[in-house]
Amino acid sequence: MEKKIINFTYEEYSSKEDLNEADRELLEQAHVAVTTASPQFSHFNVGAAARLSDGKIYRSSNKENTSIITCAEQNLLLYLHSIFDKFTMESIAVSFQNMNPGTNSDMPITPCGKCRQLLLEAEDDGGKPIRVIMAGQSGKVYVATGVYSMLPLAYSKAMLQQD
Ligand SMILES: [Zn+2]
Repeated sequence: MEKKIINFTYEEYSSKEDLNEADRELLEQAHVAVTTASPQFSHFNVGAAARLSDGKIYRSSNKENTSIITCAEQNLLLYLHSIFDKFTMESIAVSFQNMNPGTNSDMPITPCGKCRQLLLEAEDDGGKPIRVIMAGQSGKVYVATGVYSMLPLAYSKAMLQQD
């Protein structure tokens, strides 16, 4: 038996003001997306904004109704898959605002496991590591480059194609 270690490296910024201009712009678009969320049960508003290789930015947010509960990142990816045969995502920013009384929204939010898997597949399809910017309304910002780094021992399409 041999113990293995997987390292995870990410950047931590003390505030969005320390980000480069492109990342800050994308995060501000994620903040706009937060205002379009409609999570009627959780009241946990999440927004996501992605920059594609052509420089254009797309936004989405989380939705909840009696039959559907979907994440902002998932909605954004499904939308992109519905309008493009193929796309390369350069970066995605995710933010949130917890609308429940007495809660704090000033720490980074991170994509759930399902969304990491969806982002991983978008990264594989795009052929380029995606920059993932994670933040709250204010405070620290986390940035990770490459979704594989956020999903150790990831299950990917490559496994389906092995002989
Ligand atoms: Zn999710």
